[in-house]
Amino acid sequence: MEYTSTRNNRLRVSASFAIANGISEEGGLFVPTGIPQVDKAFIGSLCGLSYIGRAKKILSLFLTDYSEEELEADVRGAYTGSFASEKVAPVVNLRDNVNILELWHGPTCAFKDMALQLLPYLLTGAARRVSGGKETVILVATSGDTGKAALEGFKDVPGTRILVFFPSDGVSPMQKLQMTTQEGRNVGVCAIKGNFDDAQTGVKQIFTSAAVKAKLAENNMTFSSANSINWGRLVPQIVYYFSAYADLAADGRIALGDEINITVPTGNFGNILAAYYAKEMGLPVHKLICASNENDVLTEFLTTGRYNRIRPFHTTASPSMDILISSNLERLLFHLAGNDSDETNRLFAALKEKGEYTVSAGMLEKIRALFAAGCTDDAGTKATIAETFNGCGYLCDTHTAVGLHVYNDYREKTGDTTPAVIASTASPYKFSRAVLGAVTNDAFTADNEFDMVTELEEKTGTAAPEQLKTLKGKTPRFTDVCTGDEMTGRVYGLLGLD
Ligand SMILES: *Cc1c(COP(=O)(O)O)cnc(C)c1O
Repeated sequence: MEYTSTRNNRLRVSASFAIANGISEEGGLFVPTGIPQVDKAFIGSLCGLSYIGRAKKILSLFLTDYSEEELEADVRGAYTGSFASEKVAPVVNLRDNVNILELWHGPTCAFKDMALQLLPYLLTGAARRVSGGKETVILVATSGDTGKAALEGFKDVPGTRILVFFPSDGVSPMQKLQMTTQEGRNVGVCAIKGNFDDAQTGVKQIFTSAAVKAKLAENNMTFSSANSINWGRLVPQIVYYFSAYADLAADGRIALGDEINITVPTGNFGNILAAYYAKEMGLPVHKLICASNENDVLTEFLTTGRYNRIRPFHTTASPSMDILISSNLERLLFHLAGNDSDETNRLFAALKEKGEYTVSAGMLEKIRALFAAGCTDDAGTKATIAETFNGCGYLCDTHTAVGLHVYNDYREKTGDTTPAVIASTASPYKFSRAVLGAVTNDAFTADNEFDMVTELEEKTGTAAPEQLKTLKGKTPRFTDVCTGDEMTGRVYGLLGLD
């Protein structure tokens, strides 16, 4: 299996090269030149396997320069012991043929763990093959969830270091404590005076500085990135759609070969793109339903063909979906254009210059055949949390509620009752304030996040994940705060290079 770039389709690289480098030199995203095909027998064979067995089978179709033994060790390392559910990504039946795919049983209680627990293994193998065995230094600027998930993934992974910068006043108290109490020998965490943009700008400057790069090289180190455009973050996500299908078939909820609908609450378009790859591989999927919050740029695009990022930015109760530029959409457009990088170059030049682009009528037709799309605001989100809890006894988080709301609308509007899977992307306890507000109609007494967790447990009779409960009262290990200008010095310090 070879990979090419969405901005230069003449390029040919290996999976290892794509994963070690993250982004292509000319700014494109790495994509497979062809999508591997599976048949009914292959899908049937997944039914009797554990999540680890399923992951190995799917990943080996894409990562053909990784040996069998290596992939086996990688998926075992990633998914053994670190997930609270033995099934890793369990499917829960909500009502009649509507099912929830819970992707938040990992160490940080959100779906980013599904990929970030595996990425460090994929990355160190890739670095061995293409970076001459240098130590890989992961640098992350985070607005909250990604930083913690990356720290948990890379902690104590041999051959790697991970450094995370977060805006000191831009994350919730719970998120801050999650990061500043991080354990591990190879981790470093530092707060930045400023907002997320300041942290991100600082990290980008360090990434592209020739002086820093040279200093790292002298010490046999090299930078890499763990952000969501890395193929090594996307490919692990394809697995759980197959796994969900196999679970439904094994439980007799569908017959092997039956179609399902998949709904995904979407921000950067990574999670739903993984579902698209699963469908293109041969997983029987009728519609991919893309759910957005008030930042509805994708709803407009998938229904009209016009992508226009010149619009107000809304801060919502589902913050991980507050995004106006969905980076991974580029991969979909490249594939739908018949792997034509001239077309992607044209569209993204227009986005840069004018803040918008419109795809051809032919491409829009393909998009509409594959996708349905919808959006809801915070009121709709909260109403869905309350309805789902009161009606089905199921407590969901704000992001999952956006997905459910859009799915319910779709089902009502179209009458399409194909068995459905809705991706659930975070534990409700990760967003206790909004969830507690939804189920109590804003009549609650707790005034800090930790007390809200306790009150949500009492009000709903559900249990919060241990790793969120035990956070309370922990002593921070990383208390350093610096300015943007001091970041390079902090990187050297944390790496022991000064
Ligand atoms: C990142 C995230 C999303 C959005 O996923 P994309 O792959 O960016 O579309 C949705 N929900 C939660 C909880 C997230 O952390």
